[in-house]
Amino acid sequence: MKAYVDQDLCISCGLCISICEEVFFWSDDEKAEAIEEEVPQELENAVQEAIESCPTEAISEV
Ligand code: SF4
Repeated sequence: MKAYVDQDLCISCGLCISICEEVFFWSDDEKAEAIEEEVPQELENAVQEAIESCPTEAISEV
């Protein structure tokens, strides 16, 4: 799987980054961004948790 953050929906709450900082990080305009690479298998559960926890449903699996 890969993760994608819709920058227009992200409200910069930081939850996804605190859940999985290996995949999510702050972009230059202080929105969350996801690594472009495939999510390592051992981090897929954490990414799923981030997807479900995001208050604006900005994160999707692609
Ligand atoms: S959890 Fe959602 S709203 Fe919060 S920083 Fe991550 S993508 Fe943005």
